[in-house]
Amino acid sequence: MIDWTLVNPRDYYQKYIYDDMLYLFSSKGCPFNCSFCGNSGYHRCTHRRRSTELTLDEIENLAKNHGLKAVYFTDELWCAKKSDAYEFCEKVKERNLKFYWGCDSRADQYTKEDLQMLYDSGCRWLLFGGESGSELMLKKINKGVEAVGVEEAVKNCKEIGIAAIVTLVVGLPGETEEEVRETIALGMRLPTKFVLVFHYFPTPGSPLERELIEKGLHKPPMRIKEIGNAVAMETLEYNFSNIPSRELKVIRCFFLWSAFWQKGSFDPKEEGHFAFAKETIADFINVITKRGIKYFFSGIFTAAKEFLYIFWNVAAYPGIRKKYGLYVRNKR
Ligand code: SF4
Repeated sequence: MIDWTLVNPRDYYQKYIYDDMLYLFSSKGCPFNCSFCGNSGYHRCTHRRRSTELTLDEIENLAKNHGLKAVYFTDELWCAKKSDAYEFCEKVKERNLKFYWGCDSRADQYTKEDLQMLYDSGCRWLLFGGESGSELMLKKINKGVEAVGVEEAVKNCKEIGIAAIVTLVVGLPGETEEEVRETIALGMRLPTKFVLVFHYFPTPGSPLERELIEKGLHKPPMRIKEIGNAVAMETLEYNFSNIPSRELKVIRCFFLWSAFWQKGSFDPKEEGHFAFAKETIADFINVITKRGIKYFFSGIFTAAKEFLYIFWNVAAYPGIRKKYGLYVRNKR
């Protein structure tokens, strides 16, 4: 177990999603092999778990002694085996532990009954990598989950009361306008408030990165800083798709803008206007005030820059938004 006596755990708590929430790992790696993901290069498609007892001991200790209320399992894939998820839920019940939690999952992993079991043990949010609305692209990237499966999972979550967060990717290698349109259509019709769109980036060690290198289309970054620059929202340094970079940026910013200003938040009981925006700002202030004066000013500057960047891309390119039908997402 991590020796939490060396630091004050509260310094690491977040307000994002739920108050007094901590990011924790219960496992490493993932047995799947999506071709855009660094998992196969980094973890060799293996999945290693801490014992459920150990994970729960740690949570119990933090809850009893340090006021922990929620946990985000930042595992690549939480409980790759269903039997592990069942064991986790049973043990939470046995110990009568009361905390909210969420994790990154796969849309094909749980039935509606399974999701109910997760909810009963405190699960309140799940993140699904939807990636693309195009079945052809989903096959190309070896996702192994169909777009319709993502819709089904999100619908089930909504009925049960779990907030579903779906991530989509635009600008995948060779992606056509038609495929991007299919991804946008999926993002628009999903019954969740949280659809986040990312630009494709060749993750070091991923099969897709190797393919691009072999084709002579990509040079792997040699420094961490280069990766940072490449994934920064404004730069979009790599674009291997058939879509102009500006269009990809407008698509991404539109979905970010919509998620930020929506009604309600992760907590299904929270239905206030701009609740998510208020929580995000509160969390941001919480983080920057803890990190000292230098970080405070650079944090404010970076956030303001990104906010203006997103606003600019949404407001200044009505032609692109019209082309892709990027108007207000339906209220969920
Ligand atoms: S994208 Fe998710 S499911 Fe696919 S290999 Fe990576 S961690 Fe596993």
